[in-house]
Amino acid sequence: MKTILTGIRSNSVLTLGNYLGALLPMVRLANKYSKDYNVNIFVPDLHSIISDVDGDLRANTIRTLKYYLAAGLEINENVHIYRQSYVPAHSELCWILDCVATMGETSRMIQYKEKSKGQESCNVGIFNYPILMAADILLYDAEYVPIGEDQFQHIELTRNIAMRVNHKYGEIFTVPVATDEQVKFMEVDNGLRIRDLLNPEKKMSKSTKAENSKIMLDDAPELAAKKIMSATTDSFGKIKFDMWTQPGISNLLQIEALVNNVPLQDVISTWAGETHYGDLKKKVAESVSQMLADFQEKSAKISDEQVYELLEKGEKYANEVANAKLLEVQKAFQLR
Ligand code: ATP
Ligand code: MG
Repeated sequence: MKTILTGIRSNSVLTLGNYLGALLPMVRLANKYSKDYNVNIFVPDLHSIISDVDGDLRANTIRTLKYYLAAGLEINENVHIYRQSYVPAHSELCWILDCVATMGETSRMIQYKEKSKGQESCNVGIFNYPILMAADILLYDAEYVPIGEDQFQHIELTRNIAMRVNHKYGEIFTVPVATDEQVKFMEVDNGLRIRDLLNPEKKMSKSTKAENSKIMLDDAPELAAKKIMSATTDSFGKIKFDMWTQPGISNLLQIEALVNNVPLQDVISTWAGETHYGDLKKKVAESVSQMLADFQEKSAKISDEQVYELLEKGEKYANEVANAKLLEVQKAFQLR
């Protein structure tokens, strides 16, 4: 059975952007394929500590897993939920792959360049985490790894490392499919980026300091509504979808469509030619606060015990699969 693998770092509460752009599409994908594929959903807690953690990492981890369930993830025997650090083979394989990957190719990673920029002393984890990510994927022979465009380069790196090992030691790893095929498989709009509410030229990010620039999934619905009402727009005075010239208004139209799960084109037509930005904001504020209220009610109903039960099963499975693959690699490298 083929494997789909996915994870979201949980160094803080997730944003509406993470939800609409990553969590929800992943849950839909999982529900669509979990009859015929293994679906591995893991929390990369080791990746989380390459930067400051906002809040308690363990609590963030459990909350993120509740979010998957609240977003409608259907559980069956092919869905495996686990924490990265509870499967030590990830770190072990990472070291071995460190000895396969080169400084040159790892230094080229854009995420490393961006995340280390301006830091006086950048931790080694920021440099090394794409190799840990390769281990996360290769341990499970995952072919499909739903990712955002910021991660494309890391998938290519993973493919290169896998092919290099296979070339030297025989067919040990399944090489994940190339990024263009990953995107096709995901059936998501590749360019989807929810924008920062105050600076709509930028994407919404959980690590942005300004609270009004982002909607967090645990924001009180009234607070979220206020944030939408104070979103930056423009002075054209015409509601039109154009991310280049009117990113603020376009972002609101985009959010309205995604939150209500209707085609963007329908929302664009509904508002075409309208001139009152306040009306659009009010409508989007209503949609988002309603969505958050429903989502928060659903998350609140999921108990910690429910999550721990899934983790217990998932981590048993993950350790079995990962240890078997690790042993294969250790034998190839004459460590066993
Ligand atoms: P950080 O500021 O810590 O980088 P982030 O909000 O960018 O946080 P990530 O942890 O980098 O979130 O990404 C988690 C997932 O959410 C990724 O798949 C990423 O592509 C997706 N994602 C992040 N921000 C957005 C956004 N604004 N719109 C759509 N998808 C997003
Ligand atoms: Mg990011």
